[in-house]
Amino acid sequence: MQQRHIHTLLIANRSEIAARIQLTAQQLGIRTVCVYTAEDATAPHLAYADAIYPLPLSGAAGYLDQATLIAIAHEAGANAIHPGYGFLAENSFFAQRVVDAGLIWVGPAPIVIAAMGDKARAREQASQLGIPVVPGAAFNTQNAPAAEQYAALIGYPVLLKAALGGGGKGMRRVEEAATFSTAWAEVTRIGKHLFGDSTVVVEKYITAPRHIEVQIVGDGQTTLHLFDRECSVQRNNQKIIEEAPATNLSPELRSRLWLDAVTLAQNLRYTTVGTVEFIVTADGRYYFLEMNTRLQVEHAVTEKVTGLDLVALQLMVAQGGHLSLTQESIVCHGHAIECRIYCERPENNFLPATGTIALYSYREHPQARYDHSIRTPHKVTPLFDPMLSKITTHASTRSIAIASMQLLLADYTIVGVQTNRDFLRHILAQPAFVAATLHTQSMPHLLANFTSPISSTTTLPLAHAGAIANILTLTRTLPHTPQTQHSWRGNRWK
Ligand code: ADP
Repeated sequence: MQQRHIHTLLIANRSEIAARIQLTAQQLGIRTVCVYTAEDATAPHLAYADAIYPLPLSGAAGYLDQATLIAIAHEAGANAIHPGYGFLAENSFFAQRVVDAGLIWVGPAPIVIAAMGDKARAREQASQLGIPVVPGAAFNTQNAPAAEQYAALIGYPVLLKAALGGGGKGMRRVEEAATFSTAWAEVTRIGKHLFGDSTVVVEKYITAPRHIEVQIVGDGQTTLHLFDRECSVQRNNQKIIEEAPATNLSPELRSRLWLDAVTLAQNLRYTTVGTVEFIVTADGRYYFLEMNTRLQVEHAVTEKVTGLDLVALQLMVAQGGHLSLTQESIVCHGHAIECRIYCERPENNFLPATGTIALYSYREHPQARYDHSIRTPHKVTPLFDPMLSKITTHASTRSIAIASMQLLLADYTIVGVQTNRDFLRHILAQPAFVAATLHTQSMPHLLANFTSPISSTTTLPLAHAGAIANILTLTRTLPHTPQTQHSWRGNRWK
């Protein structure tokens, strides 16, 4: 691949991941251009950007506005775009537009994103390489009768998945033939509406599996794995606690997962970081689920145990560089756990919570990592994903990592919006979590014996009570002073 130097990077994302990418880019001497919608105008990472640009549209639409992002990149003199995760990160059309605009796309080739973003094609490709996939097949909208016959053939329960779906959206479990057509109608509608395609993958629903994934990195020639992660604690098919490495895996199974992940990526001549996801049954069978062709939310646990900077690897490979690492040189040290802080009500089916954060405080710890971009007063709107921040702990053993996470969560204080903090503490204290026997379908049991704390917003340590009174009366937004702030299309943030 041709060597091209990235001098200025546009980060097409928001919140913690924008802050995370910015840090590494600047450390590497790369100028950063950040964008923001009206709701994000006071995000602290903007103050560190070399240039910031307001986006004309609000909410997610702002960060999905492809033409504007490319135009801002040109205006700001950026020669590369990092998409982060979510939004446009796995949009092959956007990746192609970026490339066609003469910019460096910090991600895999658009053709690879398209191939892996389609669950049906990804399954096919994995299967051809001898990687076990969940029994299943893809059907288009007109083929509902054939899909139903197929479901009967593989046996209920089955899982219907929108072929282009992601983020746990567009999936329905079907218990029996009687409810197939309702679920089919829902999934095809969601597929068409959210992902632009109504193809459905009908899969055998695997009972009580664990979600284990392998982090890989490739430079187009060499593909390496950066060990595995356990992401079995999920709600609504979305992860909330992740760990590296996975616990209770036989050495044979672990090596098999690494090998299959590397084989798939190598076959794609994969360039950048990526994740190959599997589900693993209690009796040691495993199945490929999908490949995520981007930086994962949970990359922090891998960074902690390997000491590698995954964003730096992405930027290096995007510039046409080659991995100087060898598989043997990458070592897994200790254990890391990440908790995702969501603004939501676990006791109310994880309904997103909104409001204004008046106070935000957390306890420092030499082995901990906080990923966030919060400045109080911080408004949490329903316009974005409810994930607010991430806490990662790292220790020599899993039990110490759990204990330090409990300590940090106890003092992680958010006043003004309900979060899942107490639910996370509850999960970490469960014997099944400590024994690492939870699976992806454990959530009903975890919820069953959880009682929400008295206060619906995070409980407030007494010491903070005085500060709160002052903060609640603070109405002005704290100033931020980026080096250059630009107007965009003459809107009001001049
Ligand atoms: P998405 O792309 O929306 O993240 P995935 O295919 O990666 O969807 O699956 C997300 C989660 O859904 C998995 O981690 C697992 O918990 C569950 N899941 C997916 N496929 C199956 C299946 N065939 N059987 C049981 N659970 C599944």
